[in-house]
Amino acid sequence: MKRQEAKQRIEKLKKEINYHRYLYHVLDRQEISDAAHDALKNELEELELQFPELVTADSPTQRVGGEPLEKFKKVAHSAPMLSFNDAFSEEEMREWEERIVKLLPKEKHYSYYCELKIDGLAISLIYEHEVLKTGSTRGDGKVGEDVTQNLRTIASLPLRLLEKERAIASIRKLKKSLVPGFKKKYRGRVEVRGEVFITKKEFARINRDRKKQGASSFANPRNIAAGSVRQLDPKVTASRRLDSFAYALMSDLGQETHEDEHILLSALGLKTNNNNKYCKSLREVFDFYTRWAPNREKLPYEIDGIVVIVNDNSVFRRLGTVGKASRGAIAYKFAGMEAVTRVEDIKVQVGRGGSLTPVATLRPARVAGVVITHATLHNMDETIRLDVKIGDTVIVQRAGDVIPDIVRVLPKLRTGKERAFRMPKKCPVCGSRVVRHKGEVAHYCTNKKCFARSHKWIKYFVSRGAFDIEGLGDKIIEQLMNEGLVSDPADLFKLTEGDLVPLERFAAKSAANLVAALKTGKHISFPRFIYALGIKHVGEETAIDLAKNFGSVESLQHATLEQLQSIRDIGGVVAKSVHEWFRDKENVKFLQNLKKAGVKIKSEKREAKSEKLRGKTFVFTGELGRFTRDEARDKVRELGGESASSVSKSTAYVVIGSDPGSKYEKAKKLGVKILNEKEFLKLIS
Ligand SMILES: [Zn+2]
Repeated sequence: MKRQEAKQRIEKLKKEINYHRYLYHVLDRQEISDAAHDALKNELEELELQFPELVTADSPTQRVGGEPLEKFKKVAHSAPMLSFNDAFSEEEMREWEERIVKLLPKEKHYSYYCELKIDGLAISLIYEHEVLKTGSTRGDGKVGEDVTQNLRTIASLPLRLLEKERAIASIRKLKKSLVPGFKKKYRGRVEVRGEVFITKKEFARINRDRKKQGASSFANPRNIAAGSVRQLDPKVTASRRLDSFAYALMSDLGQETHEDEHILLSALGLKTNNNNKYCKSLREVFDFYTRWAPNREKLPYEIDGIVVIVNDNSVFRRLGTVGKASRGAIAYKFAGMEAVTRVEDIKVQVGRGGSLTPVATLRPARVAGVVITHATLHNMDETIRLDVKIGDTVIVQRAGDVIPDIVRVLPKLRTGKERAFRMPKKCPVCGSRVVRHKGEVAHYCTNKKCFARSHKWIKYFVSRGAFDIEGLGDKIIEQLMNEGLVSDPADLFKLTEGDLVPLERFAAKSAANLVAALKTGKHISFPRFIYALGIKHVGEETAIDLAKNFGSVESLQHATLEQLQSIRDIGGVVAKSVHEWFRDKENVKFLQNLKKAGVKIKSEKREAKSEKLRGKTFVFTGELGRFTRDEARDKVRELGGESASSVSKSTAYVVIGSDPGSKYEKAKKLGVKILNEKEFLKLIS
């Protein structure tokens, strides 16, 4: 292909690719397949390779090109980038309208343009000869930073505006009266204001990936958007799939209202938000607000309110500014995403990569319709930054699909009894050494098997022979651990729907199902409970034996080694293992936690059929001929008596079979009445 020919072909390919990008990323439509789109891009790439001098900045192949910067250049804004004053109620909105009506008494009627207020980062874009020339951040409102390289990586931002003819065709469709003005004024130079943000899904993905790498997570979507745009290396920005909306047209292209600006912006190929709406009165503004407040959870991105703008541009201009905000615009914020509660504890959770995350256990609080019980503190730096102590009263915030955050502490409410949190020197799960690598915020457990072990433990705890909780597969357990919601099985019972719904694998229904399953599962038979503790050598059979012999957690817990050894079918090794388990401080704490979490043993007391043996305690030793020992015990219970596994002064009878053990000797010593099998039979008949 000759150079001239190639040049023409390249121009056509660029326009075509840009148009399909516009359809896909801006209008959410697709006219050609992905494969066809790729083929166009490949052809362009090959031509550019052949004729490198023909590569231009607006080529779709040039989105991620630049080298990392040393620092950002400063950019002065042609007009200041303003912020908004806030309103929180209809009353405040009415007051705002009254104020502006007073300022311009000749304006009889105000109409508004309402936009969803996205929690992102404000940017300014300048297009010259239709090509993106400069993109900058707000900075202090007057001077921002040149982040053009990074903004170029955002697929929904055009590197080149749509051709004039295409733009005119869509303006004609949307509002014909704007066409003549646009034709006259548009010379390819456009200044745009907009917002860069990330979707909730992308936010979750990025934090998930960071967790996997052992890095600390971002606090909220705005953090990532801001952090990504202000990245010196554009490759990092490109890896974060940012999105954008344009919301103001600064250049005069014949627009008379704010709504016109949105029409022109979208006709030029910029992405505008389709949910925005013209409202002819404050009444309609309230309707718009009321419609979105409860539905914001369904949006793919975070919004924290709506922006209400006087629609008539000349009125808007005449209203001027107050401080750093326009008088003619206001942010009408949603309430209720925050709540005030107490930090009851700060625990350290161990993640898959061994990273230690401090997580606050909260007094249950209702935020945006759900009850939350945990807030992540992300890492030690964040904990120090917030200066949060155990016992503190805090403001918590739920930012969409993530574990809630603590926004700030209310230090004036301190009593002096608050305790500072310290990152433990040893891993709370496995006791291994904790380290912090240079240049990283996270602390790590040095034991590679640590996470895997607690994962296995939780999995065992909910398995069929144990608590038998449905809906807790490997992945879900992993996620609960990663999010810091669960570090040992007792934590499971504290989960609420509000904890679960934000997680990746949970819909409202599955969350409700799991919470219900945990609630019913809390009431458990004694043998299952013992089995679930995961004591070494204690399988289902042994658990049944232990349950029968001891009847309650307390008596099992306080059983002496001797008592345990005297149980038939329980060998010395098992007895020792059980005895040791209950003497371990951590295990005792775990038992207390289970109790606190509401775990209850179902009583399986058989109804006594008679009162004949009421108040009498029997101890059996040796082998009986007519009964197994369990049957003999059942008989005693049926008659209102009790059985115990060891002899004491309060024992009424010791029943001896063949080969009686030490209990026989003890009974003789204590003077407890001794029955042989025949005498026992006579007594119970
Ligand atoms: Zn560990």
